[in-house]
Amino acid sequence: MTAPLSFDVHRPRALTEALDLLDEYGATARVIAGGTDLLPKLRNGRLSPEHLVSLGRVGELDGIEETGDGALVIGAATRLFDVQRHPLVRKRLPALHHACSVMATVQIRNMGTVAGNLANGSPCADTSAPLLVYGATLEVARRDGHREIPVGAFHKGPGSVDLASGELIVAIRVPPVPAGSGSAYQRISARSRVDMAAAGVAGLVTLDGDGRVAEARIGLSAVSPTPTRCPEAESLLTGQVPDAPLLERAAREAAEEAKPIDDVRATAAYRRHVVFVMANRVLTTCVARASAGAGGGTP
Ligand SMILES: Cc1cc2nc3c(=O)[nH]c(=O)nc-3n(C[C@H](O)[C@H](O)[C@H](O)COP(=O)(O)OP(=O)(O)OC[C@H]3O[C@@H](n4cnc5c(N)ncnc54)[C@H](O)[C@@H]3O)c2cc1C
Repeated sequence: MTAPLSFDVHRPRALTEALDLLDEYGATARVIAGGTDLLPKLRNGRLSPEHLVSLGRVGELDGIEETGDGALVIGAATRLFDVQRHPLVRKRLPALHHACSVMATVQIRNMGTVAGNLANGSPCADTSAPLLVYGATLEVARRDGHREIPVGAFHKGPGSVDLASGELIVAIRVPPVPAGSGSAYQRISARSRVDMAAAGVAGLVTLDGDGRVAEARIGLSAVSPTPTRCPEAESLLTGQVPDAPLLERAAREAAEEAKPIDDVRATAAYRRHVVFVMANRVLTTCVARASAGAGGGTP
């Protein structure tokens, strides 16, 4: 028979209170947001903290705000469902909107958060590739200070992120998307729809006044030890007219830059192939959205 779980649950009502608790209990404490990743780990014994610090009642961490410069700041306790349905996310960040619309199940999206999705450290996290291409940063606080980390530097390896004990993610800041941009995300799970992705591809393409690519960003998840960009594929596109043969070449290059493994979800060969297929579709969608002025550029 398994031993009953034993920990104290703290429900602070203010961020300062949460940070004091994390400071006091140090490595014996864990933050809990929606609990959709954490609770299964407690049940199967992979984690056994003595204290859980819940963000559920910290109202100042819940919600999405636009700053004066047009950035969107997503509070760490904002549910995936609320991110998905926010009008500015739908309009300006279609890749993130799509990720939050298709991942997991309705029940999980009603509980889980973007911050929890990232802090869990999974290379398969669906929000990671969109946030990579949007150049998002994480605002991290501890009792006596705070710092900012680009999403691209946050993941250290499978299950490992750049967070020390006593720290928590306060918000995810997504800078304004350049005018003339289009963005998109696709993911595939090879076993069933309700499963972690076997591969995910996000893209953002910005066109200049002549219809050439001013900047391209491609983000991959689930096909390398951490979510990653594709610098070679991106530079193939930069300065060029984005016709179909070029997009296909860039998608092939992105597949070459992936470092997939065989695991229970898919083989490395399958993953590399679907990265090519999805990157081609994602880039095509990005260019179409950028050309139509419907791709998320901040007005
Ligand atoms: C059935 C099922 C299907 C799923 N499908 C998907 C899927 O398709 N795609 C996908 O990406 N994920 C999926 N998940 C995983 C999970 O739902 C998501 O990762 C979710 O976004 C986690 O958010 P949460 O708020 O529940 O995190 P929690 O479970 O509360 O926390 C996860 C981790 O992050 C830490 N943490 C949480 N918030 C903070 C913070 N603000 N600061 C510091 N640390 C923090 C916690 O201490 C913990 O280590 C699925 C889970 C289940 C159970």
